[in-house]
Amino acid sequence: MQLVEVQKKNFDDYRQFIDEETEFELDFLVQKLKDKKIAMINATAFGGGVAEKLHSLVPLMKAMGINIDWWTILGHEEFYNITKNFHNCLQGQEGVLPVSDVETYLKYNQMNASYMKDWEYDYIIIHDPQPAALIESRRKKKYEKWIWRCHIDTSSPNKEYWDFLYNYIVQYDAVIFTMHDYAKEGIEPGNITIITPSIDPLSIKNIPLKKEEAEAIICKFGVDTNRPLISQVSRFDPWKDPLGVIDAYKIVKKDFPSVQLALVGSMAYDDPEGWDYLYSTLRRAGEDYDIKVVTNFNGISDLEVNAFQTASDIILQKSLREGFGLTVAESLWKGTPVIGGNVGGIKLQIEDGVTGYMVNTVEECAEKILTLLRNPVLAEEMKEAAREKVRKEFLVTKNIQVYLRLFYNLGFTAKNPAPW
Ligand code: UDP
Repeated sequence: MQLVEVQKKNFDDYRQFIDEETEFELDFLVQKLKDKKIAMINATAFGGGVAEKLHSLVPLMKAMGINIDWWTILGHEEFYNITKNFHNCLQGQEGVLPVSDVETYLKYNQMNASYMKDWEYDYIIIHDPQPAALIESRRKKKYEKWIWRCHIDTSSPNKEYWDFLYNYIVQYDAVIFTMHDYAKEGIEPGNITIITPSIDPLSIKNIPLKKEEAEAIICKFGVDTNRPLISQVSRFDPWKDPLGVIDAYKIVKKDFPSVQLALVGSMAYDDPEGWDYLYSTLRRAGEDYDIKVVTNFNGISDLEVNAFQTASDIILQKSLREGFGLTVAESLWKGTPVIGGNVGGIKLQIEDGVTGYMVNTVEECAEKILTLLRNPVLAEEMKEAAREKVRKEFLVTKNIQVYLRLFYNLGFTAKNPAPW
């Protein structure tokens, strides 16, 4: 397993985003937990939403005085291919679970668990299915509290895959889901905590950029900043529906010929399927030079994502399934209206008609894009509501508060309840 180096942060910089009551509670919880050691474990340090969240959560908790480390498990392509399939099947894809996949999955979990021999952590938080079986291979010590954090939409999973994972999930002291809909039967309700993910308002991806600065950045990718731009920022993945985005754009283009589309996507190392899907996307885009497909392999990094989210007229997140959809909160925080698929965590974030729209089909998506392009005043009015929604519910300070509460509460029993 590999220890992830994180950037240093200063908690004082974040006090501007929290009220007095929250500040008081955070100080209290840090005091109570200051002698505890915490480990976060996930599959990758770069690419995708989980890594993104941990890059802000972990250094900020450290800055508050929490003793926390972040580890990533070691794996090879054969493991990531299998866990990618796990991910898809847990989100509902059909298919049977081959015995050889189970063996490979467990082999890597056992191998990674062997790195934990001399570990002395009080709280071990496992993110997503890839490292979920570590709990069994490790043989949990008595003082350890294990928490499984599920970032995906498990509301209607493939039963065979869920049943397999369930064997491990029930061994955990607590399970975190993003929404109640994702919490499955069979897990003790008392062990379930709901935590929505969050964004870091001071990260390069989310710091305020002036419109001109943002435009200067996206110009470099061939965008004409004098014409309207719609963008989707996400991995090339069937659930993110980049092909549906292109189809919606093509409908809009007929009525609004000046429109441009940017598909901004990161290629994650644990996502071999992403390359195939990028090629399908490029084929669907064809010879239309107003469609820009750009990735981390040709210059997209956090600042560029920020620039696209800031300078676009509309952000799309036309997902067909979505655990949460950090890109939605990121874009709303910049005051850009978002048109999102009417699924999963997107439903928690977009207030239909107030901060953007939720859509079920390509046609509906095209219709809402046209509504916003034709009514810039409406788009402008959505700006404040969008920012306020994120400030109240989806900033990292809120996320830390709920995590620390959970750690603290795990030290209590029914006879000795927590004061919250
Ligand atoms: N992202 C990025 N560069 C890209 C595309 C995406 O940094 O080219 C980031 C995006 O800004 C967001 C994360 O990757 O922070 C994706 O998280 P989300 O929850 O939207 O989706 P996931 O990839 O976890 O399914």
